[in-house]
Amino acid sequence: MQRIEGEVSGIDVARRTVAYQADGAARTLTYDRLVFALGSRLAHPPIPGLDRHAFDVDTHASAERLNAHIAGLARRNPSPGQFTALVVGGGLTGIEAAAEMPGKLSAAGAESPRVILADHAPRIGSDMGEGALPVIDEALRALGIETRGGVSVAAVDAEGATLASGEWIAAATIVWCAGMQAHPLTAQFPVGRDRLGRLPVEPSLKIKGLAAEFAAGDAAWFLVDGVHASVMSCQHGRPMGRFAGHNVVCDLLGRPLLPLRIDWYTTILDLGPWGAVYTEGWDRKLVSRGADAKRTKELINRQRIYPPQSGDRRAILDAATPTVQAPPVRFG
Ligand SMILES: Cc1cc2nc3c(=O)[nH]c(=O)nc-3n(C[C@H](O)[C@H](O)[C@H](O)COP(=O)(O)OP(=O)(O)OC[C@H]3O[C@@H](n4cnc5c(N)ncnc54)[C@H](O)[C@@H]3O)c2cc1C
Repeated sequence: MQRIEGEVSGIDVARRTVAYQADGAARTLTYDRLVFALGSRLAHPPIPGLDRHAFDVDTHASAERLNAHIAGLARRNPSPGQFTALVVGGGLTGIEAAAEMPGKLSAAGAESPRVILADHAPRIGSDMGEGALPVIDEALRALGIETRGGVSVAAVDAEGATLASGEWIAAATIVWCAGMQAHPLTAQFPVGRDRLGRLPVEPSLKIKGLAAEFAAGDAAWFLVDGVHASVMSCQHGRPMGRFAGHNVVCDLLGRPLLPLRIDWYTTILDLGPWGAVYTEGWDRKLVSRGADAKRTKELINRQRIYPPQSGDRRAILDAATPTVQAPPVRFG
C-alpha cells in the first residue's frame, strides 16, 4: 500500500483516473477500484461579506482562526458589538458552537458577553425532536444565549450583520454554521445526487449504477436500516468507511460484498459547560441530559471516534473490521 499526499482535482469514471496536484505538479493515477470519501463542506451562500467577515468551525484551521479572532477582541477599539457573537444556524453545529461562546468571550476579557443564536427556522434546534427541545432551551437559557428564530442574514460586515428585515445586529464575531454540502467533486460521477450533493450508494457502499466506484461518509448516502437515509455524521461515516474498505478489496478479489445495516440511531448534542443531551431513535427519545449525557459525549469525542491511540498496528487494523458497534454507553 502507498500513501500519496496530494489534492484531488478531478475524477474520470470512464477512464478510471484520478487527477491530483502534488509537489506543485499535476499528476494522474489510474485505478481498478475507487473509494470516494472526501467528506462535506460548510455551505457558503452568496451573501455579501460572508466569505470575508464571517468565521466558521468547519475545519481545525477555521476553528483556530475563530479562536485567534476572539482572543484579540479586547485589543480592538470599543464598539457596540465588540463582545457580541452572532452564531448563524441553529442545527447541531450552531448549537454546539454557541454553547462555547459565552465562556470564550469571557476568557477574552468580556464583562458581559452577548451570544445570539439565529436561524431562519422558527425554532432553534427543531431537528432535535420534541424530547430534546426543552433540554436545549433550558441549557441555552442557563448559558445566557439569546435565540432568534425566523431570521435571515442578508449581508455581513466587519461590525455586524444586516438581516433581511433590515435590522442590523452589531457583532464583531459572526460564526456561520448554516448547512453542509457534499464535496463538489461528487458532481464528476455520472449519477444523480441528493439535495446535499451526496452520491447514492448500495448497502455495499458501491455507488449505484457504477461498476468500480465506492463512496463513504458525508459524500454518500443510503438507507441505513432500509428506511432512514444516512446522516452526515461520524456515527454513520465510520461504519461506512469500514465496510467500503472491506468491500473494495472483496470486489477486486471477486468475493461477495458485505451489506452494511445499522439498526440504531442516537444523537448526543454537546451543550457546553451546561452538559449535553442524549437521544435515541429516529424519533429522538430523551435518554439522558446534563452531566450524564456529557460523560457519553466526552467518551465519543475523546475515544470512540479515534483509531486506537496505542499506536499498535494490529489494534489499528482490527479497528477497521467491518462491524457495527453497539450504541454509545449511557450514564445516569
Ligand atoms: C464542528 C463539527 C462538529 C461535528 N460534530 C459531530 C458529532 O458530534 N458527531 C458526529 O457524528 N458528527 C459530527 N460532525 C460531522 C463529522 O465530522 C463528519 O460527518 C465526518 O467527519 C465525515 O467524515 P468523512 O470521512 O466523510 O469526511 P471528512 O472527515 O471531512 O474527511 C474528508 C477528508 O478528505 C480530505 N480531502 C478533502 N478534499 C480533498 C481533495 N480534493 N483531495 C484530497 N483530500 C481531500 C480532507 O482533508 C479530509 O481529510 C461534526 C462536524 C463538524 C464540522
